[in-house]
Amino acid sequence: MLDDLPAASTPAWADTRARLRDAARVCVLTGAGMSAESGIPTFRDALTGLWSRFDPAQLASEEGFRADPALVWNWYAERREGVRRAEPNAGHHALAAWSARRPGRVTVVTQNVDDLHQRAGQRGVIRLHGDILAARWLQDCPRRPACDIAEADDGAPPRCPRCGNLLRPGVVWFGEALPEGALDAATHAADNCHVMLVVGTSGAVWPAAGLAGRARRAGARVVIVNPHPSEIDDEAHAVLRGTAARVLPRLLALDGP
Ligand code: NAD
Repeated sequence: MLDDLPAASTPAWADTRARLRDAARVCVLTGAGMSAESGIPTFRDALTGLWSRFDPAQLASEEGFRADPALVWNWYAERREGVRRAEPNAGHHALAAWSARRPGRVTVVTQNVDDLHQRAGQRGVIRLHGDILAARWLQDCPRRPACDIAEADDGAPPRCPRCGNLLRPGVVWFGEALPEGALDAATHAADNCHVMLVVGTSGAVWPAAGLAGRARRAGARVVIVNPHPSEIDDEAHAVLRGTAARVLPRLLALDGP
């Protein structure tokens, strides 16, 4: 229901819509809240759920993986299944359709490791934190030919039968570098946009959280879409309280190219 967003008639909404319509370049930074209405738990939701008894440092660090590879691999295997079952929500679709009407003008930078932006048809998404549906070797393999994959039968991650190298989830863990080129591309988009829309992020994970401040200092209008306060609300010129699947279709509808 779009009509149950009474705030949509406020000056902040009208101003944001006008700026989005007129902006030559828009950067959209998304976080876990973008996919929440697709049924994928946010990091915080996940931590209050089944896995709340585990330390996030164990589930999202190389040290934690090395300490208990099966536990971490299975946690990600369950999340992967959730992503495969999920469908893009109205927010993903609205953003992809709106961007398609503005070729070359909209850059989506996501912290999400799911593929819902892409499945909604969003082009050229910059993925800061990797891809949960991909796997990679824990260690670079010096062998030629490189490691073989042997499927594990006990829930443990597949490992190379020759050298023992383990497959690990293709996501960025705490303390790790972002995928090559991703941060540079995201920083360029933040520094050169006229409007930055920040959707569904707590602003707690760096360096992604710093992009809103960068955009603002470079002169962009920063607008946050989130039903709850975030750690970067102070960086925003406007905060639109509401969820991604309800706000984005309303915010991005009805304006021509
Ligand atoms: P976070 O869990 O720290 O914060 C989620 C934010 O989304 C909160 O501010 C919350 O208020 C907001 N939110 C909740 N429901 C919303 C909705 N329906 N619409 C809009 N906003 C909503 O997530 P984060 O800031 O992205 O950082 C956590 C890290 O966890 C990221 O690095 C990310 O890669 C990872 N993560 C990714 C996914 C995914 O790929 N879908 C899911 C969980 C965590």
